[in-house]
Amino acid sequence: MRTVFLNGEFMPASSAAISPLDRGFIFGDGIYEVIPAYGRRPFRLAEHLERLRHSLDGVRIEPPYSDEQWSGILHELVQRNHEDDQSIYLQVTRGVAKRDHAFPQGVRPTVFAMTSPLVPVPAEIRSGGVTAITLDDIRWEYCHLKTTSLLPNILLRQQALDQGAAEAILIRRGEVTEGAASNLFVVLDGVLVTPPKGPRLLPGITRDLIIEIAAGNGIDCREGTVTSADLSRAQEIWLTSSTREILPVTRLDGREVGGGRPGPLWTRMIALYQDYKRDYKARWQANGDGPHD
Ligand code: PMP
Repeated sequence: MRTVFLNGEFMPASSAAISPLDRGFIFGDGIYEVIPAYGRRPFRLAEHLERLRHSLDGVRIEPPYSDEQWSGILHELVQRNHEDDQSIYLQVTRGVAKRDHAFPQGVRPTVFAMTSPLVPVPAEIRSGGVTAITLDDIRWEYCHLKTTSLLPNILLRQQALDQGAAEAILIRRGEVTEGAASNLFVVLDGVLVTPPKGPRLLPGITRDLIIEIAAGNGIDCREGTVTSADLSRAQEIWLTSSTREILPVTRLDGREVGGGRPGPLWTRMIALYQDYKRDYKARWQANGDGPHD
């Protein structure tokens, strides 16, 4: 039985219940985070908590906890569940109130967190790459906020799945924004390029880490506009997210990318990424309790 956290208490998942009047249920009025934990230690926690604060601020929900309190809750949650590697999901909604668009007064936000086993991406998917399709980015203009109102993303992802593809790559007025649930990198003339941060895409924690790893290893990486035409001529296309790490796209809109095989820069980057995770786990084990980040 998994243990979850709801409104200040740890409990078995089967005991967790919220009101149907919760604004998360009624309006999708909430925000969330997904944080991987390796060796039971939340990865890049400071960065995830910073993004959580920005999301709360962006939708005007008072932060229910300080970073230190969040850190304590999430560390305890991964200890109370069984796997070494877990994916933490946490959600904050505006709380339970009579249905009305206007913000309710004096209502406490609902806070829920759970974890699931973090299953590595199967080796054959990693080595063979995935298929993607391009679709019009039909979402709103606040995509930098990680809100639970994900209906457009769900419809886009399902359209990709219905066509046998793993992900939809989204295009707004000729420019690539991101995937339905991932950020995007392309290799153009040997240079790694990713669309710049802004209201049209989620500032991915994995995206930032890849930029950091590139900078530390002499890999030329730039933030810049990626057009649909760039996608057609890219030597490599990658999709990045906390749970799927870095996926090479080897087929886009029915055409091969990079000869239909993951490219050399992806091979290098995924190895550097795994090294980074290994060092992180080792540092944590060596330090016992370790520094809280
Ligand atoms: N963009 C969107 C729309 C996403 O849903 C996600 C992951 N949930 C990402 C990008 C990647 O973000 P991260 O690297 O923080 O998982």
